[in-house]
Amino acid sequence: MSATQIQRARDGEITAEMERVAERENRNREFVREQVAAGQAVIPANHGHESLDPMIIGRAFSTKVNANIGNSEETSDIEGELEKLHTAVHYGADTVMDLSTGSDLDAIREANVEHSPVPVGTVPIYEVVKRAGSAADITHELLLDVIEKQAEQGVDYMTIHAGVRMEHLPLTDSRKTGIVSRGGSILAQWIEENGMENPLYTKFEEICEIFAEHDVTFSLGDGLRPGSLADASDEAQFAELETLGELTRTAWDHGVQVMVEGPGHVPMDEIRDNVEKQQEVCDGAPFYVLGPLVTDVAPGYDHITSAIGATEAGRAGAAMLCYVTPKEHLGLPEQEDVRDGLAAYRIAAHAADVANDLPGARDWDDALSEARYAFDWTEQFDLALDPERAKSFHDQTLPGDNYKEARFCSMCGVDFCSMRIDQDARDVADGEMDVIDEETDLTNSSAAEVNLPPVGTHDTSGVPETIEIDGVTFTPERHADD
Ligand code: SF4
Repeated sequence: MSATQIQRARDGEITAEMERVAERENRNREFVREQVAAGQAVIPANHGHESLDPMIIGRAFSTKVNANIGNSEETSDIEGELEKLHTAVHYGADTVMDLSTGSDLDAIREANVEHSPVPVGTVPIYEVVKRAGSAADITHELLLDVIEKQAEQGVDYMTIHAGVRMEHLPLTDSRKTGIVSRGGSILAQWIEENGMENPLYTKFEEICEIFAEHDVTFSLGDGLRPGSLADASDEAQFAELETLGELTRTAWDHGVQVMVEGPGHVPMDEIRDNVEKQQEVCDGAPFYVLGPLVTDVAPGYDHITSAIGATEAGRAGAAMLCYVTPKEHLGLPEQEDVRDGLAAYRIAAHAADVANDLPGARDWDDALSEARYAFDWTEQFDLALDPERAKSFHDQTLPGDNYKEARFCSMCGVDFCSMRIDQDARDVADGEMDVIDEETDLTNSSAAEVNLPPVGTHDTSGVPETIEIDGVTFTPERHADD
């Protein structure tokens, strides 16, 4: 089996994955290699994931977005899961995490990997506890068996909550919302009932060996992340972070790629400090944040509360943002929730890239603004982050083709369209209509692929049209432009 991306980068090799990433990011191949070699970026690419279009996660590159998919006991069928995968990729997910906890876990995971052009992540402790029957009954052997099996199935990265230590648990006693991470709560229960240290911590080096064999990337889980503003930046959170820093270095010693997960719920004014602290403690390993939500008062709108925090985190140096849907805290998201969550997070990621002055990131904004000012409605829809929604909202009031060149929309109306008034005033002043001086050429933009339309652009040539599971052939639903 070939070495991992980080081992090969350290040896001076530019792999095919690094070449592809350099092309997608519009960056120098040697720069990509250096970033991977130094652990400042990861290319999650399991040796067994054949349909993958490689991508990179690191603060020097465009900000990425993860979408969580997966079933629960209540909803479970493979076709439905593949449909969720395609919806997530279509609306711009750069990676997906299969968080299934229902039935058919192996079949769904294998189908997702086989059918996904983006890296697939998992949280193996979910399957472990399901197979053990209860948290207390988890054994070290079962834990390693499940991790090894998922690595063999082609999973690209796994959340491993190895930073939840026995000595950290009392630090959560005075919290308002205790331990809110599913993995963190399972491991805390195991530690308390067995009176022993977290098995993911004690077996960490064996997990590293499995990951090195398949090139699985660590996503070091933040099992003690705050679940409310009141618990943000507390002793428990930062004690775990120190352990995650130690584990990052252990994984690097084993030639394994690492990213580190972060909170959760954090007031806006504490987000930058949180990101900078992670970067310092974990020696620049990519930070992968869940939100964070900047207020606790808006269930039903937590894609917004968290996208605000995600933008600030991206601006401060977070490399990947885990999306939150409007259903957060309330229920399992459905297709429309996935779409809304991804739109919110693609906006957050792009806004952070523009603010961080990533090469070419603003070209997309400029091109859309030019189309808007030129009243080129068709071009404006084509350039929109979600073209279908932009067109449908416009056409709700002005559906006719004649309105696609109209110098107004129904928002201000024909008499009060400020852009039309402004252009007319310029006509009078200049004696001629000269709407845009210089048009942005997106085909020659230096922007990374994720900062150019359309979203959800991946090379899907490695993804099979159909998939066979237990002798049954499925043809997953696709969007028209996939
Ligand atoms: S009517 Fe108002 S919202 Fe519509 S194009 Fe004109 S300025 Fe923009």
